[in-house]
Amino acid sequence: MIDYKLHIPGPVDVSDGAYQALTTPVMGHRSPDFVDLYQKCQPILQKLFMTEDPVFLSTSSAWGVMEGAIRNLCGKKVLCCMCGAFSDKWLDVAKRCGKNADALSVEWGSHIDPALLDQKLSSGEYDLVTLVHNETSCGMMNPLKEIMKVLAKYPSVFSVIDTVSSFSVVPIPKDEWGIDVMLTGSQKALALPPGLALFSVSQRAFDRAKSIEGRGYYFDFIEFLKNHEKGMTPSTPVIPLIHSLHYTLEKILEEGIEQRHQRHDQLNQRVHQWVESNGFELLPEKQYASKSLTCVSNKLEIDVAGFVKTLREEKKLSIDGGYGKIKGKTFRISNMGNESTDSIDFLLNQMDEILTRFK
Ligand SMILES: *Cc1c(COP(=O)(O)O)cnc(C)c1O
Repeated sequence: MIDYKLHIPGPVDVSDGAYQALTTPVMGHRSPDFVDLYQKCQPILQKLFMTEDPVFLSTSSAWGVMEGAIRNLCGKKVLCCMCGAFSDKWLDVAKRCGKNADALSVEWGSHIDPALLDQKLSSGEYDLVTLVHNETSCGMMNPLKEIMKVLAKYPSVFSVIDTVSSFSVVPIPKDEWGIDVMLTGSQKALALPPGLALFSVSQRAFDRAKSIEGRGYYFDFIEFLKNHEKGMTPSTPVIPLIHSLHYTLEKILEEGIEQRHQRHDQLNQRVHQWVESNGFELLPEKQYASKSLTCVSNKLEIDVAGFVKTLREEKKLSIDGGYGKIKGKTFRISNMGNESTDSIDFLLNQMDEILTRFK
């Protein structure tokens, strides 16, 4: 039994209302009731994706769409921008899909330098770039606007942008910045249970996909588009999660999208203050620190695993003890989803109590 609250950067804490919505009775996925549900979500999703293109719902985790985007859009060679655990893995995924792929790799915690990307793309070798906007493993947010400006110089290079942990935290104007595929997942900033990926595809990306072989079926963008026109998905979707999505989207509108962004910014700053006042540091440079979560560099060399365990067992609060090769050297605190000033202040106070034993 889970008797603690999640403050890890995904999956994040799910509200009672979102859980409740999961119990809405299931209907046929080819029924008018489903079409109605799908079409009610659409305009709100388009608002959040800041796009006029369709927003698709994929019954998979985000990786399904991340792999799918490569299979739909890479005809020549993909350049994978790598700056942490999620972005690093994408190179391997591309190769396993049988694609030619190169890395543009920087240290974990560093950002992707637009000038470096420009230099790489000037070789003319690539027709696709993958980028993780917010590298959740390092708490680093890439300068997406500047990166998209570089991509705009290379019209034959398409972009796949993972916004899994930044979507609805900061504005990401997909159309204005010319993003070809923007994707996210349910269990991070949207604070839904896992199992649903959401993505939007540009018109020119559909045009290219039509000419690419080996797109497969489950993640074929053209199948998604055909079904979307009928208010449906290609195969039976995870209907309970779509009910919960609709509930959440309405809640987001109720709060206001800008207000939501501001709330995340404020909560994030509170955690940053805690980091400073306790003598820790952020892993990334402050300028590129994520607004969704905080990745703390363990400068004080505390026993992170012990700290995280004690916090969970005694205070019933779960933070993350570091991802992959930076486990123990960092720890992470999420401010995504439904967190409030009260819930973050409570967490930080409880952390203070436990921390005195570990300093
Ligand atoms: C969590 C996460 C993913 C992986 O999502 P899955 O739902 O496990 O497929 C990908 N990218 C980023 C940035 C993430 O934070």
